[in-house]
Amino acid sequence: MVKGALQSVKVRVSEEKKQVVFVEAGQEFIDLLLSFITMPVGMIIGSLIHDKLLKNEMGCLKNLYRSVEKLDENCLQSAMCKDMLLCPRSAVEIHYRKLDLDLVDSSSNQYYACEDQRCDFVSFYQTDHCHCGRPFKYGMKLSENQSFAPQDGGVFVKSTTRIMIDDKFRVDPVSTENSLKLLKELQLTFESTEERWIQNIGRAEVLKLMVCSLVSKTPFSDIFINNPPDSSNYHGKYVPRRPHLSQRVTDNSSDDKRISLKLFIDKPKNRVLYAEAGEDFVDLLFSFLTIPLGYFFKKFPKLPFKGSLCNLYKNIQLLGDSWFFKSKEMKETLVNPKLAPGLAQHNQLIDLDEAPNPSRKTLLSNFKINRFPLSANTNHHDVKNGMGFVKGPSKFMVKNNLSVTPLSASSGLTLMGKENVSAEDIEVRNVIVDKDEALHLLAASLVSKSALTDVFILNEPTKKKNQGCNAAGGNDEDDDDCCCCCPF
Ligand SMILES: [Zn+2]
Repeated sequence: MVKGALQSVKVRVSEEKKQVVFVEAGQEFIDLLLSFITMPVGMIIGSLIHDKLLKNEMGCLKNLYRSVEKLDENCLQSAMCKDMLLCPRSAVEIHYRKLDLDLVDSSSNQYYACEDQRCDFVSFYQTDHCHCGRPFKYGMKLSENQSFAPQDGGVFVKSTTRIMIDDKFRVDPVSTENSLKLLKELQLTFESTEERWIQNIGRAEVLKLMVCSLVSKTPFSDIFINNPPDSSNYHGKYVPRRPHLSQRVTDNSSDDKRISLKLFIDKPKNRVLYAEAGEDFVDLLFSFLTIPLGYFFKKFPKLPFKGSLCNLYKNIQLLGDSWFFKSKEMKETLVNPKLAPGLAQHNQLIDLDEAPNPSRKTLLSNFKINRFPLSANTNHHDVKNGMGFVKGPSKFMVKNNLSVTPLSASSGLTLMGKENVSAEDIEVRNVIVDKDEALHLLAASLVSKSALTDVFILNEPTKKKNQGCNAAGGNDEDDDDCCCCCPF
């Protein structure tokens, strides 16, 4: 069952400017906002699609999600893979149980253990064997609201925390000085603003806030005063890459993992129409759905992300531990997000670690566990984690917007017809994807609707100001010659 406690927050608004100056809230509200950062992309898209709230947010990632939904299970390594991608688990899902609103219903999650009580290993996924070599014998479900842990309150932040969070998602301790600072910034006086209580903030409102945090620079004003913005035009432009980083040809003989790809380029329009790719490239793309949103903000601090959530991330990176975070470990889970155990792939190009598996001892000492035997007739004997999601060898068509379908003899021709591109205008180019390209693809997948063109077609650097999320203490003097997602 999904929890749905309602919350209230105090907001300071300027009726005249139709603007929220700041929200004053306690631990419950800030913990909810922070949980957005820890959620894997597929979990966010799944929640928003479920509630019919997703339009054009999340760049090409929504197309990847839809592609997995439509993909025949026979194309996947196992039936479990679809679940791993469409409902990816979060490394911090156990902590979601303490949130006032359980946005993703983590109470349905199961864990798997072998029969040896001395073995402490617990798996997030039912695969072929436990780490000790024995088969998994039991499923474990954590009973809802049965935590035996001391009820010290707070999830990521201290239970006593009260904060002011402004319309750009910048966080400060509650103080008169900080109130005056924000009023001054907006050229408002205390008298020209008023205090309001927003009551009954439930799941629907929090999900709408999640959408606004992805697409709006003024999420609180949008939710509490104005109407949520129309997200139809909220996909960004991807700042061109540095020429020397682009388009390596397939003759490099280094041992590094790399993926080859055949691009079909519409020459007159200088865009990638589609790519023909093997299962390795599709595995790379699908794995983006398992990555926590916070990783994008960590890895690409200059990403031209349209929303405000990146500001919250930048802000918590800078915040001191003592007054705000529940512990150093909790700050670490937010600032350095990890994949849930079992989601990392062998030979993955994106350098992202898995969180450690929870131990049997930890689960037993913190939760009441409902243990149930697994059916002997299970078809999980040959399921191995980390071996990719897509069965190979196989060929796929990946469109410019990262929509993926199995390749057929006519799929390319059909697309050319649909896009009104003649065969003479097509250039076929072989390229390789290495770690650098994989990172650029990841960045483009969140902020662009044309990821393949943005990453593989060489554009001249433009003298254009970075439109990225630099409101939280960043600066506008970014090097125009450097690609916006360059992590180096
Ligand atoms: Zn074991």
